[in-house]
Amino acid sequence: MNNHVTVLEIDGNALLHNLNYFKQKLQPNTKILAVVKAFGYGSDGVQVAQFLEDKVDYFAVAYTHEGIAIRDAGVKTPILVLHPQIPNLTAIVKHRLEPNLYNFKIFNAFLKLADETPLMNYPIHIKFNTGLNRLGFWHTDIPKIISTLKETNHVKVQSLFSHLAASEDIEEHDFTINQINNFAYIAQQFYKHLGYEPMLHILNTSGVVNYAKAQFDMVRIGIGLYGFGNDIQETLQLKNTHNLKSIISQIHFIQPGETVGYNRAFVAKRPTKSATIPVGHADGLSRKLGNKKGYVLINNKKAKIIGNICMDMIMVDVTKIDCKEGDEVIIFNNQEMLEAIANASETIVYETLTAISQRVKKVLM
Ligand SMILES: *Cc1c(COP(=O)(O)O)cnc(C)c1O
Repeated sequence: MNNHVTVLEIDGNALLHNLNYFKQKLQPNTKILAVVKAFGYGSDGVQVAQFLEDKVDYFAVAYTHEGIAIRDAGVKTPILVLHPQIPNLTAIVKHRLEPNLYNFKIFNAFLKLADETPLMNYPIHIKFNTGLNRLGFWHTDIPKIISTLKETNHVKVQSLFSHLAASEDIEEHDFTINQINNFAYIAQQFYKHLGYEPMLHILNTSGVVNYAKAQFDMVRIGIGLYGFGNDIQETLQLKNTHNLKSIISQIHFIQPGETVGYNRAFVAKRPTKSATIPVGHADGLSRKLGNKKGYVLINNKKAKIIGNICMDMIMVDVTKIDCKEGDEVIIFNNQEMLEAIANASETIVYETLTAISQRVKKVLM
């Protein structure tokens, strides 16, 4: 039982708002896949999936065990495992997860398992590389894939998909259009020779924002669901889902010349009131936020982080803030604060969110 006082509140209404925001950008029959990998972008993939179960068509996770956790919680919605490995395939079938097969090694291994079990029309997904050069078959692999598929009824291709390399970057417009066109060509080849028509999908959040025409049959929404549109205008339309809160554990009054924290990194120039908060780099706050690069909110006022961030604590300057031990501390509760943390941490919001560690208690409300 996690009773850490540092709590990440996941805002269910905000999740719904964001889901509906993307829905209204799409054709009514376009399916929605909610990406809940990496613990729902640092929240709680299981709670988010339970909450969205009857509101989306698909879920995606990166790894098999993430999908198993969602199945074990009773969620019945189809779950695509984006990056399975051969040793996971038995567990994938056992939990009725749907594998992405991205090269011949895993494709053949899955077909062998499907043949031996035997499975009937087991849903699989085939990923094509159209320029990201990360995971996926090349278009030149199509004839071999199709000839293998034609000889089996143990599996059925549920979808063909690809992933954009720079959908958020308008400067890369031509590259992205080329990826989309390549994918459309691959799908056409597949349809011509396979004998049935699997679903197609290529867009992530910023793909939906910038290239909605390429929505095909389904879109994969990750960061957008959690309140970020990869674009200021879009983000303004979305609601923040991740609210990280804690409390003041202790207050100290420090005299000029005294120091705060490890390595004595903060030196008081004047009488200073500091507050110690039970959240540290082991909870997901980058050490780059130390030494006044980051702040928290206490009674609606900004309190700068002083000294180095510890594993389990931060100290903040509350000299000018009316506050006491036990008062609530907001580490972030809107997109602006999260963007500021990401900037000060020299990273992107994706990493700031997914860095929130498993030690933090997660409550969907
Ligand atoms: C993570 C991921 C997504 C979601 O991307 P967002 O930018 O968060 O919407 C979609 N598709 C694939 C293949 C991914 O790995």
